[in-house]
Amino acid sequence: MPRKLPPFESLHVVRVSGCWEWTGPRNEDGYGKYGKYALAHRLAYINARGTIPSERVVMHTCDNPPCVNPAHLKLGTVAENNADRAQKGRSKGVFRKADPKHPAKVRRGEKHSRSTLSADDVRAIRKRHAAGESQTSLATLYRVNSGTVSRIVRNEWRTEVV
Ligand SMILES: [Zn+2]
Repeated sequence: MPRKLPPFESLHVVRVSGCWEWTGPRNEDGYGKYGKYALAHRLAYINARGTIPSERVVMHTCDNPPCVNPAHLKLGTVAENNADRAQKGRSKGVFRKADPKHPAKVRRGEKHSRSTLSADDVRAIRKRHAAGESQTSLATLYRVNSGTVSRIVRNEWRTEVV
C-alpha cells in the first residue's frame, strides 16, 4: 500500500524573500516533487488559479525553482521559459546563481535580512507564534534576530512599512 503523502500545504517554509520553499523531495533541476510525478510548483499554480492551459509552462518570477508561492508563479510558453533560463544563466542542475541585475534575489546574510521581511512574513510569524512556535525557532526560520520576532509578536512591528 502506498504511503500517504503529507498535505501539500505543509511542505514548504516561508523565506524572508517571500518564497515558499519546498521542503519535500526535489528533482535534479531543483524543482519540488509531490508524490512520484507531480511537480510542486505546477500543483501550487493549479491549487491557486485552477488550470494550466496546454502548451503553457509555469515559470518562476523569483528564479527559485523550489518556490511554490503562487504569487511568484506565472504562465509562459516553452520558448519564453528557455529564453528566461538562458538569460539568467541557469542551466540543468544549477540554480540560485547570484544575479547582478537583481541583487535583492540573492540570499542575504543574517545581518541584512531584517529589512526583507514582507507584510506576509510578519503576519505568518504572528500566526505561527500564536499557534505555539517558539520565537527562537521563528527567528531561525526567517533569519531575523529574536528581538525582531519579539517585537512582531507584541505587535510593535508596523506591517505597512516592512
Ligand atoms: Zn519565490
